[in-house]
Amino acid sequence: MDKGQKFSVWYFFIAIIVAWLFAEYIYKPYAESKSEVPYSEFLADLDAKNIESVDITESRIIYSLKEGATVSPDKRPIIGGVILSNRKTKQSANSIKSVVKLVDPLLIEKLSNAGIKFGGVARNGAVDLLMGILLPMLPLIIIWYLIFRNMGGSVGAGGIFSFGKSKARELQGEMTAVHFSDIGGAGEAEVELREIIDFLKEPKRFDKFGAKLPRGVLLVGPPGTGKTLLAKATAGEAGVPFFFITGSSFVEMFVGVGAARVRDLFGQAKKKAPCIIFVDEIDAIGQSRMRNFNSNSEQENTLNQLLTEMDGFEANNGVVIMGATNRPEILDQALTRPGRFDRQIQVVLPTEEGREEILKIHTKKLPLAPEIDLRAIAKVTPGFSGADLANIANEASLLAARRKAEHVTMNDFDLAIERVVAGLQRKTPLTPEIRKKVAYHESGHALVACYLPGSDPVHKVSIIPTTKGALGYTLQMPTEDQYLISESELKNRMAVMLGGRAAELLIFNEGSTGASNDLERVTEIARRMVTEFGMSEALGPVRYAAPSMTYLAGATQAREDTGDNTARTIDEEIKRFVIEAQENALNILRTHEKVLHEVAKTLQEKEVINHEEIQAFVDKEKEEASS
Ligand code: ADP
Ligand code: MG
Ligand code: ZN
Repeated sequence: MDKGQKFSVWYFFIAIIVAWLFAEYIYKPYAESKSEVPYSEFLADLDAKNIESVDITESRIIYSLKEGATVSPDKRPIIGGVILSNRKTKQSANSIKSVVKLVDPLLIEKLSNAGIKFGGVARNGAVDLLMGILLPMLPLIIIWYLIFRNMGGSVGAGGIFSFGKSKARELQGEMTAVHFSDIGGAGEAEVELREIIDFLKEPKRFDKFGAKLPRGVLLVGPPGTGKTLLAKATAGEAGVPFFFITGSSFVEMFVGVGAARVRDLFGQAKKKAPCIIFVDEIDAIGQSRMRNFNSNSEQENTLNQLLTEMDGFEANNGVVIMGATNRPEILDQALTRPGRFDRQIQVVLPTEEGREEILKIHTKKLPLAPEIDLRAIAKVTPGFSGADLANIANEASLLAARRKAEHVTMNDFDLAIERVVAGLQRKTPLTPEIRKKVAYHESGHALVACYLPGSDPVHKVSIIPTTKGALGYTLQMPTEDQYLISESELKNRMAVMLGGRAAELLIFNEGSTGASNDLERVTEIARRMVTEFGMSEALGPVRYAAPSMTYLAGATQAREDTGDNTARTIDEEIKRFVIEAQENALNILRTHEKVLHEVAKTLQEKEVINHEEIQAFVDKEKEEASS
């Protein structure tokens, strides 16, 4: 919540003061001046010739007293049983009294006999009645207004009844000025978003072909990689209004307001179609209801409303809903179901080339010294996000400004990197030696997968450190869903997992800590092969694992009644399977060592290498062998 939206106790005090002032100076004089009296008192006043003039309305008689008339004491106005003031009514010279009109056929005669001015008035009792109800309520209305305005409802334009309207209305129809040219190194995400842009530009065309576009697009990636920026650029490129709302702004909200906001947001967006609704940090409301133990009901209401709205949209109505998160794994499954956020776009940390582009964008307006080499800066900043790089550019220009220098120099950048790194801690720039090791490790995984039949094809290999702490990764894409995995396939998988370590052993003659996660996974597979799948000859087709407990998924435990000897054999068999797999991987890499060097070299240069490029090296080797 931003500052202005916070509920302030001050408003409450102000409201109370306003209410008091109101009661004291406006309501009371009004109430006092018109004391309600019994008919008998009216007759008494009449007899005593106290009455100056009389107004007769449909239901009441309102009369004013003559100057100097004696007023019965202590006529305190009583509203709803509450005595508004303890002060005695002053002897007021010209007080007005009001009395319920009774059927009194002699009234007119009495009045004219007494020589009193009298007449009917157009203003009837209803006005009095209304004043009697509205005036005391006014302070309440004011309090209500002040409180709800602080709850984020936008009162200003829409009046007090518009509270709960979404914050997005403030940005209603906002045309963003962000374009893809302001974003560097987002190649793949950009390509995927192009389709959405085409749709937004011409929704009708897509309708004609009966093509259904994904209703919700989820941008997934580490913080600072430009997800928010990409969403804005999508709106900017398509030239459509951009409705922006942050998931976290829903939390801490009063009951019902979050849901009302979502409803309102969608209502407004529909009117403005084609347009984009962007829910940033969607995990704040879309957190899995399962894992969220102290589930916040307001968050749940908001999420439910969001789901309802998404379901209620006809396809191709021109509204594209985008979301962004850096924790897709905690999202409620209901959000990612077809018809909702059914398309995910990965926004990854930039490659060296991407980092150079980003640096270029963020130094465009800086007076750079001629010797500045942005590529060199990109080289030493693997694992840095776009936001980190923007930060570096900013720090460098600050440093130069502080020196009162004419140009930002390479030295400024060096210092800036140091600063940003110090601030980040986790991101130590990798030394060339480490990068080389990581490159061989990942190439090892990739090549073993290439040469082993039936392995999932390698989609992409990267040595850009991930935010989760891995120094690199090899991404394999399964070509089909696997319901049944054969023994040989399992063994191949293990070999692929050990390919990284095998490459390190082959090239550097020693392993490293980089393989620990691989070993964990391999050992788990081997353990299950032995204890669950009956794949060890020595132990036979017997189950040695404890009954599976799904909530402990992953951790296969040994049965408690396993004997010492059997336990030893299980361990030996697991070890044998793992060593076999490692030998297998080593053999493959030895045979294709030349390709390994080539892939690792390319990886060090480009940081990322895809399936086609690896395949090209493999094919080249084949050609050379056959010629
Ligand atoms: P996210 O939403 O993924 O956390 P943002 O879009 O909020 O990241 O990015 C924060 C800032 O970092 C942006 O305003 C921009 O200045 C910079 N930035 C991030 N990624 C990029 C990029 N790919 N190109 C240019 N600038 C970027
Ligand atoms: Mg963001
Ligand atoms: Zn590995």
